[in-house]
Amino acid sequence: MNGWMKRALVELRFWACLGFCLVLAAIALMGQLDRLRASEVPARLSMGKASSPTASRPVYRIRADYDDKARTVAGRMEVTLPKNRSETWEEVYFRLYPNAFRRWQWEEHSKPKEPGYLDVTEVKVNGRKAATHIDGTVMRVNLPKPLQPGQSARIEMKYRLKLPRGGSRLNAFGRTAFLAQWYPMLAVKDEDGWHTEPYTTVGDPFYSQMSDFEVTFRVPEGYRVITSADDDPTKPAKGTVTLRQENMRDFAAVITKDYEVIQGAAGDVEVNLWYQKGMEKEAKKLHRAAVSGMRFFGSLFGPYPYREVDVVLGETGYGIAGMEYPGLVTSIPKYPTRKGERPAVNVVVHELAHQWWYGVVGNNQVKEPWLDEGLTTFSEMLYMHDKMGEDQREFLARAAEVSDEIHKRQGVTSVEPLYRYSDSIYGLMVYTRPAAMLWRLMDEIGKEKVLEILRTYYDRYKFQVATTRDFIRVANEVAGRDLTPFFDRWLFFKEKDIRKAG
Ligand SMILES: [Zn+2]
Repeated sequence: MNGWMKRALVELRFWACLGFCLVLAAIALMGQLDRLRASEVPARLSMGKASSPTASRPVYRIRADYDDKARTVAGRMEVTLPKNRSETWEEVYFRLYPNAFRRWQWEEHSKPKEPGYLDVTEVKVNGRKAATHIDGTVMRVNLPKPLQPGQSARIEMKYRLKLPRGGSRLNAFGRTAFLAQWYPMLAVKDEDGWHTEPYTTVGDPFYSQMSDFEVTFRVPEGYRVITSADDDPTKPAKGTVTLRQENMRDFAAVITKDYEVIQGAAGDVEVNLWYQKGMEKEAKKLHRAAVSGMRFFGSLFGPYPYREVDVVLGETGYGIAGMEYPGLVTSIPKYPTRKGERPAVNVVVHELAHQWWYGVVGNNQVKEPWLDEGLTTFSEMLYMHDKMGEDQREFLARAAEVSDEIHKRQGVTSVEPLYRYSDSIYGLMVYTRPAAMLWRLMDEIGKEKVLEILRTYYDRYKFQVATTRDFIRVANEVAGRDLTPFFDRWLFFKEKDIRKAG
């Protein structure tokens, strides 16, 4: 292979890696590559036995009626707020992400063909009507009386979701609806206050907290429901299905008439891959990769805590190659390369690695997107290296150089909120450079130490939210030396430490 070819491959790989969660317009530029029966809804929620509200997690009870002709979900939702707070709350915020698709404010090329939205009505707090204020994707609920620490409250509401056509993630086409961020999601409140940051098309602009869910779907005849919860593929939904899942950050679902399943297991974890007609060839390969990936990550980082995971093949809207939700990921079946089309093993494996980094160990994906994307890209590359024999060193070295250049020109680092990145540099700064950093760290302290850092970080922060500072603290502790200059150089581009950091 000549130099030109090598460079071309690095370039190819470079662009291919720009965003597996959001495949960017860059790929197109390169030209290479890579019915609703609302009246029948009971006046009050009655959904059988619910798990008793925990002190620490919100408890969602949702009843969702899907209308395939109208592309709508009529929902009734009840959220029990957690008790263990140190502050008095006078208001509560919810995220209504589908409202991003009501009046599209972003790039024309990613505009949905038909708009979508999430309308909320009849909001009550402990049975009393509550005043609300909705501004785009943010809803404030004024509590009729302040909620003291140690007190819980039950917030009820009705909602109507209209699915966009050609939306990103949240989408409906053919006889399939992809339900992503499809219910009013309780916003996160932490030391920075309530998180009500605006939607953006760069990255995954979502931040959610561990919650308990009881979700009842009513679907038209012939439809099945694939969800974040432990689904049983042998029992298709007959009209109504109720799913329960504790300790999960989000609850995604796919309602469909068009999918077949391949079942398997990675140890105790059931791995289901869902595919449509015409994807049979890739489906088999990708199911094998999914099983092998779940086994690989489980043995390297620590056990996946849920019983089952679903991989759903298909493009879930404009520019989305793959997307992660707890217990459910989506992926395109294949992507084009110079050598022809290839099954999207790296996309599937990438999204599954997110079960560890994002799903179980959470982070603020708006404020520090590198933390889940960087660790996930590194995990994906480790799989592609160890299991598929791919050597990424040259590509990673090149990515490090290019990201240094971008930092010099634009001043942007790898630890910035989403809004600081344009589409064209996001993947490089947030995915690839941190992956290159961890690859370099293996050279510095050895692969086993790096894996021990990741295992310790996973064990310490599972079911919680971690920060960049937490990650560096664990790394220093496990390595038994101060790696802060190394991370300063790689994440924050602090040049003065370059020689010391190597
Ligand atoms: Zn990702």
